[in-house]
Amino acid sequence: MRQFLRNLKMTTALLVLFVAVLLVALFIQQKRSTEELSVAAGENKYALQQIYSRAGSISSSDGVVLAHSDEGERAYAENSELARACLHLVGDYTHRLPNSVESIYMQELLGSSRSFLEQLNLDIRGQGFEGNDLVLTVNADLMLKASRLLKDYRGSVVLLNYETGDLLALVNSPTVSPQDVINWENITEGTLFNRALYGRYYPGSTIKMLTTAAFLEDPDQDMDMQVVCLGSEEIVPAGAKETLTPEGHGTVELREAFRESCNAFFGKLAIALGREDFTNKAEDFGFNKDLNLDHFKIAQSLLDLQEPGQGALSWAGVGQPIGQDRITISPMHLAAIAGAIANDGVMMKPRVLLQEIDPLGSVRYTREAEDYFVCCQPGTAADLEELMLEVVDSGTGRRASRAGLKIAGKTGTAEMANEDGEIVVNSLFSGYLISDSHPLAVAVILEGENRDAATVAADMLQYAVSVDIP
Ligand SMILES: [Zn+2]
Repeated sequence: MRQFLRNLKMTTALLVLFVAVLLVALFIQQKRSTEELSVAAGENKYALQQIYSRAGSISSSDGVVLAHSDEGERAYAENSELARACLHLVGDYTHRLPNSVESIYMQELLGSSRSFLEQLNLDIRGQGFEGNDLVLTVNADLMLKASRLLKDYRGSVVLLNYETGDLLALVNSPTVSPQDVINWENITEGTLFNRALYGRYYPGSTIKMLTTAAFLEDPDQDMDMQVVCLGSEEIVPAGAKETLTPEGHGTVELREAFRESCNAFFGKLAIALGREDFTNKAEDFGFNKDLNLDHFKIAQSLLDLQEPGQGALSWAGVGQPIGQDRITISPMHLAAIAGAIANDGVMMKPRVLLQEIDPLGSVRYTREAEDYFVCCQPGTAADLEELMLEVVDSGTGRRASRAGLKIAGKTGTAEMANEDGEIVVNSLFSGYLISDSHPLAVAVILEGENRDAATVAADMLQYAVSVDIP
């Protein structure tokens, strides 16, 4: 009898304890959802500061802390140059940058994405209030290098691992420190804009990678097609002409036309392909599709050819839309396209989150490489690679040539209106390094600048081969 009573007492005590733990857990979860609601209702920065006071950390793949909470304060990278370089990607707790790791991964950072049992387990161990830590795919040294290369420009650098899809660097200029964003000081025009993901640029001659892919895969086309380039003379009425080479390229075939970026050839080529084939190939490469970088949405790249006539089509073929035509691309997508060509025609799903780790050190998520789009046939990718190697070796991309490195790429310049409606020339480069240890694809877009993108891209690749990547 006594034994029975003792057992009953014990069972009752355990039950009471269990119910108490459940109640505490419920309370915590309710409190969490109230906090989230208050954020959704647009609470001020002090409320957000409170909410982020025990949020998890954000680090680079090489272990540098990019954001963390300490004694109730949210702080960003200790190295102020790195903090500025990471602003657009990491963001800040006040969510002034609506698309950043701090805002998009808020649930994970606060731990509110956990299941009931996960939360209960952490509560029992006294870690229930701590958020989860995030490890990004980006490398701190590469972020710093990219920001230094961009110091004197407005624009973006994006560096990817084309075999895994890992984002290794993504930097925009101009930028500002996260503390300035929190204090709302020193914010000048354009500093908060994540050009790399949301910029909509004319691709200029970088589109010739796609016109060429469409050409190579079209059995109706004559691979020996020749075009006489008359320079500043339009190839058809109101059609494409040379802006950088007024004297013209003479009679050219694909190889020379690609190396010298001949507008006459690619304008004629677009007319030969027609709007449908050209658009279909661009869509294989991700145009007119919703693109994502994990939870980030990327600006959709557009290839929408509505302007009638051969003239407009020829301009579209060189990436310079006229009239009602719309052709735009983001630096992120431009890097992914180069990566797809490097990776035998397969674009890998871009990744920015390497791992999510709970407060007990358990890894809740690890990214895995995954195919995104089959952009072109492997043979087409191989032919494009040869053409792109020649661009850097002896063509318009010679500035990207570096001793000992096999760099393939395509240059572009495009005239477009800036935020003030003025016409500016942008310089673009999309390319990659042929390397087993460093399968790197890069895109650089510089605003109001007509040639330096190739130099910046190659400097980035040259530096990156000295850095270990995950
Ligand atoms: Zn030409």
